[in-house]
Amino acid sequence: MLIKVKANAIITALLVFLIFSLLVFAQAIFNQSDFQDLEIALIFYWLGKLAGLIGFLFLSLLIFSGDTARYFDRFFGLDKIIKFQRKFALATMILVLAHPIFFILSSRSIFFYIIPDFSVLPLALGIMAFYVFIIVMAASAAYKRISYQLWQYLHIFTYVLFFFSLYHAVNWGSDSGGWPMRIIYLILFLALIGGIIYRTAYKLKQRSAGKFYVREVKSETKEVFTLTLKAEKKFVFRAGQFCFLRLNQNKLYARHPFTIVSSPGESELRFAVKTQGRFTRALLKLKSGDEVIVDGPFGIFTAEDRAKDLVFIAGGVGIAPFISLIKDRLADKKNQQVVLLYGTRKAADIIYREELDGIKEAWFAKVYILSNDSSCLAVSEAGHINQKIIEKYVPNISDSLFYICGPESMKTSLKEILKKLKVNKQNIMIEDFFW
Ligand SMILES: Cc1cc2nc3c(=O)[nH]c(=O)nc-3n(C[C@H](O)[C@H](O)[C@H](O)COP(=O)(O)OP(=O)(O)OC[C@H]3O[C@@H](n4cnc5c(N)ncnc54)[C@H](O)[C@@H]3O)c2cc1C
Repeated sequence: MLIKVKANAIITALLVFLIFSLLVFAQAIFNQSDFQDLEIALIFYWLGKLAGLIGFLFLSLLIFSGDTARYFDRFFGLDKIIKFQRKFALATMILVLAHPIFFILSSRSIFFYIIPDFSVLPLALGIMAFYVFIIVMAASAAYKRISYQLWQYLHIFTYVLFFFSLYHAVNWGSDSGGWPMRIIYLILFLALIGGIIYRTAYKLKQRSAGKFYVREVKSETKEVFTLTLKAEKKFVFRAGQFCFLRLNQNKLYARHPFTIVSSPGESELRFAVKTQGRFTRALLKLKSGDEVIVDGPFGIFTAEDRAKDLVFIAGGVGIAPFISLIKDRLADKKNQQVVLLYGTRKAADIIYREELDGIKEAWFAKVYILSNDSSCLAVSEAGHINQKIIEKYVPNISDSLFYICGPESMKTSLKEILKKLKVNKQNIMIEDFFW
């Protein structure tokens, strides 16, 4: 719960900074304006300035959040931060593109804004920053195709972009002289430096983390296989976390997230992988001894609270975090009930059934819910996980923590069901496998 409090405090601080910045921008732009003769050219001019200022603010936050995402993982989950950044990058791109377009529309002079004249350095650097921005955006869009090394070098361009834009904003923006504006620039500058330091320290630490090699690739069901890796050094993680996996192979450099199935006490790292596309097909073809680059652990789909009972609801390969979480509890004699509701199409699609059936502890109960199978297992239900099933198997609904990991349709229906059952939102944790 403390994590949620801290996460809310960070979001509040960010919102306060954004609102403060927007007020300062609005004051700087509209303060000296004469609203008597409002011309279309003036409106374009205002919009150009506003787009430039907000675009610079967003760009700085984007670079900062990219550099520090691994730090903020502990509050929000790295996957969620990255998914948010993708949307945020789109908004930033629209603003940065709009900045010169509105000025061109306002002055009807194109070349002044697109060809850098280095005798007017602040403007020239602004134009150069614009072109660097286009290169970085194009590289980000082609991220999956370019080598990781090239991507690292391109990343340095983002700092060039920031410093060019900052110089442009401070020395060209006619409204940058006031102290509130300077405070904003100073905060962004310090945040960027902090981000660079954190990123460099993380990269250095990662180099000493040791390498990971394939021990085994084992088929579990028609669609899912287990990838087992052995690590040179002990890999410390919490049950429920995930890692980014990369392969040093042509066109497969991009990182892909996979949840750790093994428990923190085990010496090897296991992942349950569902074959989806190019990357997962390449994982299936790996041979014993091949190297896999592992970055992690990340994620907050962990179960630190040892007082409340736990309800784990899994669909298909979404069982992955729960195997780790359940096995982690085997080592620990806490008085905490765990109910696993595991939905698959057929009995043959149940992954790690032997492991699950082998757990006979009194604190653990499991139910297989089969949507497309008439077989009747020891404890099973037919159809999809619904309100009746939850009421039948979960003894203490209002005081349990619900963890959900499965397909989109399952998550949507479960959110509705738990709402009807009056489960507090704070007690619902959802892991999203969509990437
Ligand atoms: C935090 C997190 C943890 C994850 N853990 C696991 C795990 O333990 N095991 C596992 O198998 N996967 C897991 N995933 C999903 C996994 O990362 C992706 O399935 C994988 O990266 C797909 O790569 P690909 O190149 O094989 O397929 P792509 O070429 O990227 O995708 C192939 C096709 O499948 C669709 N697709 C991709 N991913 C999904 C998805 N998850 N659900 C539905 N459709 C999809 C795409 O839209 C595309 O049409 C996790 C994702 C996240 C965010």
